[in-house]
Amino acid sequence: MKAGRQTTLRKRVSVAGAGVHSGLPVTLTMSPADADSGIIFVRTGNDGQPERELRARACSVTATDLATVLGDESGVFVSTVEHVLAALCGLGVDNCIVEIDGPEAPIMDGSAAPFVAAIDRAGVMSLPAPRRYFKVLKPVRVIKGSAVGEFRPYDRGFRVDVEIDFDHPLIGRQAIAMDVEPGMFRREIGRARTFGFMRDVSKLWSSGYALGASLENTVVVAEERILNPEGLRFPDEFVRHKALDAIGDLALAGAPILGAYRSVRGGHKLNHAVLAALLGDPSAWTVVEERLPARPVHAPVEAGIALTLPAVSIP
Ligand SMILES: [Zn+2]
Repeated sequence: MKAGRQTTLRKRVSVAGAGVHSGLPVTLTMSPADADSGIIFVRTGNDGQPERELRARACSVTATDLATVLGDESGVFVSTVEHVLAALCGLGVDNCIVEIDGPEAPIMDGSAAPFVAAIDRAGVMSLPAPRRYFKVLKPVRVIKGSAVGEFRPYDRGFRVDVEIDFDHPLIGRQAIAMDVEPGMFRREIGRARTFGFMRDVSKLWSSGYALGASLENTVVVAEERILNPEGLRFPDEFVRHKALDAIGDLALAGAPILGAYRSVRGGHKLNHAVLAALLGDPSAWTVVEERLPARPVHAPVEAGIALTLPAVSIP
């Protein structure tokens, strides 16, 4: 692949599974897309209704309770998009059509690894178009109760710094920070699975959540032990999964991020709130065609430092 070029998949590839919340069987198909398409979800199999396109952008988010949901004004939605988005973002795929024939992406094994494997089966190719980056220009912070999320300028790439603090002896306080790039994503993040607490199960089920959850797709934490017979994939799999979720949620910026994201005690709701706060302040971000040399974080932002592309707007 050529550096600085946009990418897509070489061919169409599918995975089949079930939704973790709905329990419904579903097939997800990723296909090549033209430059500047971004990631587009297409909801098919909609009871005879026409296919609906849902762009993977923050403005398409309709819910962030336990999963990230994209939808439109007609009521069509696709839920739990964060793991496939994390795989696409983590492997540097800029343009892709993601067809889903049900209301929720398949949970697979609870991680992004099956989507990584599918992207590897398809292959990634560069397109004859420059890659555009979503560049953070100044700090933006959101505080929600004890949760804190913030973006800061960071010119070396996309940095994610996540800390969790659960009142549970098997989790407690965990933190991870990394520059997101494909090798690191494959090794350290992509395989980390969704987790849930046994104590929450009956409440989740009665609210219509986690109906498809099982030990095949969720790390289940009981009072004193992990119920999955195979145990954990990493000693700190929990915070790694939170980083995976953040990478997927922030892919809704619509272009690779040049910036650092930090989340403390966060989740989908916080990730989305911080991204929305950033997008809501036009002086806090711009779109550039290449990574620019580092400059002091607190330097005033001057017109002309970044190559601004007026034709591109990221709502
Ligand atoms: Zn997740």
